[in-house]
Formats: sequence, C-alpha cells, structure tokens
Amino acid sequence: MNWITNYVRPRINSIFSRREVPENLWVKCSECNTMLFHRELKDNLNVCPQCDHHMAISPRDRFASMFDGAIFTEIKVPEPISDPLHFKDQKKYPDRMKAAQKKTGEKEAMLVAEGEIGRTPVVACAQDFSFMGGSMSMYVGNAIVAAAERAVELKRPLILFSAAGGARMQEGILGLMQMPRTTIAIQMLKEAGLPYIVVLTHPTTGGVTASYAMLGDVQIAEPNALIGFAGARVIEQTIREKLPEGFQRAEYLLDHGMLDRVTKRTEMRDELITIVRMLLDMPPAIKGDLPAPNADELAETPAEPEKAEAEAGKAD
Ligand SMILES: [Zn+2]
Repeated sequence: MNWITNYVRPRINSIFSRREVPENLWVKCSECNTMLFHRELKDNLNVCPQCDHHMAISPRDRFASMFDGAIFTEIKVPEPISDPLHFKDQKKYPDRMKAAQKKTGEKEAMLVAEGEIGRTPVVACAQDFSFMGGSMSMYVGNAIVAAAERAVELKRPLILFSAAGGARMQEGILGLMQMPRTTIAIQMLKEAGLPYIVVLTHPTTGGVTASYAMLGDVQIAEPNALIGFAGARVIEQTIREKLPEGFQRAEYLLDHGMLDRVTKRTEMRDELITIVRMLLDMPPAIKGDLPAPNADELAETPAEPEKAEAEAGKAD
C-alpha cells in the first residue's frame, strides 16, 4: 500500500489541485443558489441575472456606475474626534475601526462625491453597510453636513443612498446626536430650494430611518430592501400579533404609502436623471452621446478663412 499512498495519491492530488478554479471567481446567489461568474455579476451591478436579487454594492462601485464616465470628485469630510468614550466591548473601538477600514478599503461608513449624471451636476453620498453595519457615527453626520453644505454652495441637488443598522453604539449619545444634526443639514437644502432624493437600500433601519433617510422629496427604494425603525421580532413580541408577509420590505412600504418608487438598481441611474431634471425644471436628458465630429469637416474648417481671404484679394 505504500506505493499507492506515497506515490499515486500525491500525483492524483497534484493533477486535481492544478485544475481547481480559484473560488473567488464564482459567487453564489444567496436567493436562488445559482453560481454566477464574478465578472457577469459586476457588470450587472451585483444584481443576480437569474432572480433579480439585489446584493450589496460598495459606495465606490455605485458611484462609478452612476456618474458619467465613472468620473466623480470626492468631497472632503471633516474628521471628528476618534473614540471619544474610550469604548471597549470584546474589542476596543479603534481596533474595530482599523479592521473595518482594512476590510472595505474606505475610511468610514459614508462616501461623499460630486459629479454629473446624464450631464446633470449633482452631489451624492452613499452609506456602506459592510463598514460596521453602515452605522451612523459622528463622521457619517459630518459627511451628510458636508454634502448638504456643498450642494447649497454649488446649487445642486443631493442624492443619498442609505444603508444602516442605526446609530454607532461605540459613540453612544454622540452617534445618536447625528439624528438632529443631519435633519438640520437636510433642512438647509430645503430652505435653498434644492431637491433631496433618498434611495433606500437593503437594509435601512434604526435611527437612520428616523432621520435623514426618510426626509427626501422623493423616496425611492431598491427591490426587496428591508426598511424599518424597530426590528420585526421586537414589534411582534410587543404587540403580540403575527405580522403580515413582506412586512418592512420595499414593496410592502410602497403599497402602504411610505415610498414613492421601487426601482431596480440597473434602472436607477436613468430614473435619478429623470427625477432630478424634472425637479430642477431642466429639459429631458439626451440619451447616448453626441456623434463624434467628422474628421473631414475638421480638416476643412481652418482652411476656410484663408479661402475667404484669397477670394477677397481676387475681388480687389
Ligand atoms: Zn439569484
């Protein structure tokens, strides 16, 4: 048996391990279990092409797909004091922050940018659920204030993509204080007569739903997104009643008048362009690009003034 274990088995193993496909090339849809090629999934903005399940997308990828030519400028957010309460549970708060920064490659749970969508200048911010549950921290509050101030300064509409589990526990009352702060920031936009559009993504819950995420002039949600203040289990235990099917989901909230639209991610950009331009009293956006200038025409144009001069000389 030595011959089999020492010689044959390693040979077989080496042949098979060489043929193994790297695992990260395929992503399994959590809804329909279809194996999806990562490239195909990315091109479809992390929406399953089989069952339309909307998976999470990072703020940076979302902005790249939304802004014209994937060009946007990040807006600088003032840095708050770090770890003001010296909070510690199983891990220290600064250690949790470092881990989240390493995991996401982002500084905090909110990204703010300015750019154009369908040649319409806007300011946008997007929350990152993978960064400590997208929790509302002082930085997130600062980000929304910075976005609102920039929008007022440039006289542009503000589009916000929300995703959060609530206020950041590690910042205690200072996290909770971002609810009134962000509400005032949004009020600034309203006083300046600028549109504020909220896109609620899965999941948006807690203090975020009780402040800036519900103050939009137009409230849009992605399909099947969980949106609510308290969790369904808590409500069920409090009222001692079985909750209806689809409770706190985007479609249910649309039926009950809490939302204006439920829009697929792949159609979101066009929808935002239409809404923003309507609210700003602008003509509809031009679809596609203008035709490229004709090379022959370009070559002829500079020659024309000379021709005209030559003709003028003849006339003399
Ligand atoms: Zn699927």
